[in-house]
Amino acid sequence: MIRRHSVLAALAIATVFLAGGTHTALAADKVCQLAIAGSDAMLFDKKELDVAADCTQVELTLTHSGKLPAAAMGHNWVLVKTADVTTVANAGMSAGLANNYLTPNDPRVIASTKTIGGGQSASVTFPTSKLTKGGDYTFMCTFPGHYVIMKGIFKFG
Ligand code: ZN
Repeated sequence: MIRRHSVLAALAIATVFLAGGTHTALAADKVCQLAIAGSDAMLFDKKELDVAADCTQVELTLTHSGKLPAAAMGHNWVLVKTADVTTVANAGMSAGLANNYLTPNDPRVIASTKTIGGGQSASVTFPTSKLTKGGDYTFMCTFPGHYVIMKGIFKFG
């Protein structure tokens, strides 16, 4: 009798687990929030962003603390492997503001916000499953010419 109950209990747990599926995983998500600002002086207010190893999602919010419009002093936040910085930035330059200065669907872009002007903000949420712990990542603004100064180190784990 005891054995029979155990089997039933095990079956019940398995059913709940299967039915839960994706929802169970989502409930375990740890969303880590980051904030960064870009200014009319063509600068980010942070040189480094750190994400702890147990974060499963990153929610980054970019704020433009200046007053200039996106066409003149636009900023976005783009995350790439450090080795891809120059290639992605150069390709994005010709893509224009309509494409947020990024080649559409560029596979080298891990995450990116839209390009914003003074007083605006934009957010992006992405899973850390796209990252390798201890990997060499850089965030930057791909508005033409900005990435040379507007970039920083992104650390995960
Ligand atoms: Zn910029």
